Amino acid sequence: MTDIIHLLPDSVANQIAAGEVIQRPASAVKELIENAVDAGSSVIKLFVKEAGKQLIQVIDNGKGMSETDARLSFERHATSKIQKADDLFAIKTKGFRGEALASIAAIAQVELKTKRPSDEVGTQILIEGSEVQSQQPCSTPVGTSIAIKNLFYNVPARRNFLKSNSVETSHIIDEFQRVALAHADIEFSFNHNGADIFNLPKSNLRQRIVNVFGATFNQRIVPVEEETFIVKITGFIGKPEYAKKTRGEQFFFVNNRFIRNAYLHHAIQSAYEQLLPRETHPSYFLFLEVDPKSIDINIHPTKTEIKFEDEKAIYAILRSATKKSLGQHNISPTIDFEQEASISLDGPPANKIIEEPKIRVNPHYNPFKSQTTFENSRDFNGPSLKQKSNLQNWDKLYETHVNSPAAATFTLDESPKQEIINPQWENDFSEVSKSLCYQLHNRYILSHIKTGFIIVDQQSAHERILYEKFIQFLQHHRSGSQQLLFPETVEFTASDSALVMAMLHELNDLGFAIEEFGKNTFVVHGIPPLLKEVDSKVTLERILEEFKKNQSELKLNTGENLARSMAFNAAVKSGKSLSGEEMKNIIDELFACSQPYASPSGRPTLTTFSLDDLERRFKK
Ligand code: ADP
Ligand code: MG
Repeated sequence: MTDIIHLLPDSVANQIAAGEVIQRPASAVKELIENAVDAGSSVIKLFVKEAGKQLIQVIDNGKGMSETDARLSFERHATSKIQKADDLFAIKTKGFRGEALASIAAIAQVELKTKRPSDEVGTQILIEGSEVQSQQPCSTPVGTSIAIKNLFYNVPARRNFLKSNSVETSHIIDEFQRVALAHADIEFSFNHNGADIFNLPKSNLRQRIVNVFGATFNQRIVPVEEETFIVKITGFIGKPEYAKKTRGEQFFFVNNRFIRNAYLHHAIQSAYEQLLPRETHPSYFLFLEVDPKSIDINIHPTKTEIKFEDEKAIYAILRSATKKSLGQHNISPTIDFEQEASISLDGPPANKIIEEPKIRVNPHYNPFKSQTTFENSRDFNGPSLKQKSNLQNWDKLYETHVNSPAAATFTLDESPKQEIINPQWENDFSEVSKSLCYQLHNRYILSHIKTGFIIVDQQSAHERILYEKFIQFLQHHRSGSQQLLFPETVEFTASDSALVMAMLHELNDLGFAIEEFGKNTFVVHGIPPLLKEVDSKVTLERILEEFKKNQSELKLNTGENLARSMAFNAAVKSGKSLSGEEMKNIIDELFACSQPYASPSGRPTLTTFSLDDLERRFKK
């Protein structure tokens, strides 16, 4: 037999390798900006078109490259940053693998222009799918400009895999912010589709944080400082009263490199113990400096994870430094300084990985999937919001009942099986409509149905009702808007305002009358009548928070996500006392929904008990 193994051509090998390094436009942005930082630039400009799908360009004023280096920079494992294996343990630059440019060139059309301060003329290279198209002298300022066009143009599968522009843009903003925060002494700008998103002059860290996240941050943060022989910690932490529902602004940098580390995160979180309302997260911007020999940054291709030699000690120091800062700034007067200042090294065991509990939600979960009547369950054109579908839905309610007599608890991974339908149940709707409702513990609505009783979770049910209404508004591109007497101007952080821009249509379809009004500012003329909140900024901020949370956890399209976030915000909450009328409305409207049985995030909305269930319980 003939031999069958052969070496892949470079272009194919590079494409495969590229998958590791460049997953999306944001990864290319990160690599280019980091290269600019490594080149000693003092000004770095980022230009992006169509969320990076069309263009990503980084222009720097760094040291530039020679003609030969320019050509070599696109070779795999070509780097000026390390020379021998030992260097891996003393890394001071962002890059060191020499893979980024080779990867990018394998999957895009790239134009590089570069000139060193000592050169008369610069050099220009055009490269496409790893093939150099041309290299020639050119006139260009000192520094480097790299333009990446049509990312993944030759890997359609990857291109199709990219998310909507708003999602990809927010990933780019994340990467940009990380590098910008790590290098306050460098001037950065970011322009998307011709609009300036960030203009960050050279400054100190506090000013940089404020420039990135908005003026309100100035009063929200307090400094942290601690120096020990193992680690030096500097930076800022958020005051507890500004903690957020989402883990938005949490940044660790180790030797100026952004990292994630659940273990160290836990150190911070635990320092805030008792100071935070439940399920809120503090902001932090913390810089750890350690001996490069004591960390291994070589364990992950995209390099956001690193291993520490002294993780346990760093945990304790970090926790104590955070506590100290909270105490010093009179945020937690009860802290005992003496005790806190003497660092105890018994944090959690060093090799224990602390993982945040995660809630997994299946957005497509439908407990009745197997039922034929639910075939169009994702098609919201169906029932008009009141009447007609009521009976049909009561049918379905009956089905729940017969399917799960054992208290009708919903098991998320099992859809009930179809059974015979008892036509008598159809009458139950009129019955429940007429019957009185009782509220239990300001949380559940109890009502009588012909063959037993029903308990509705008021919050989940209302979320479901609002969600379906919002989805309808989106589909018909209209909903009423309640005009504000005095239009309000609302300012967002740059990244939030990019999000708002990307969802402006949907917001207006949903009943906001909102328009852009210059830099990061919007005018709100009206709000959806279903949102009772009067402060439109607070309302919008809450919706955005929820939206971002959904965005990171679930893969929803913008409209669905917004509808969900708005429903979540506007729904009556557990704990609210309801009038008889309000309870009846909830029940009526719930059964007019196309999927009445679960909230948009999959929590059950109701459960039924039959007389049989009751009888059984009272048997001797
Ligand atoms: P790495 O950054 O890991 O070395 P890259 O593929 O990102 O690998 O870059 C390869 C080489 O190209 C770098 O080591 C550097 O010498 C050179 N280079 C890349 N970008 C720039 C830039 N903006 N300015 C100067 N040199 C650069
Ligand atoms: Mg690099």
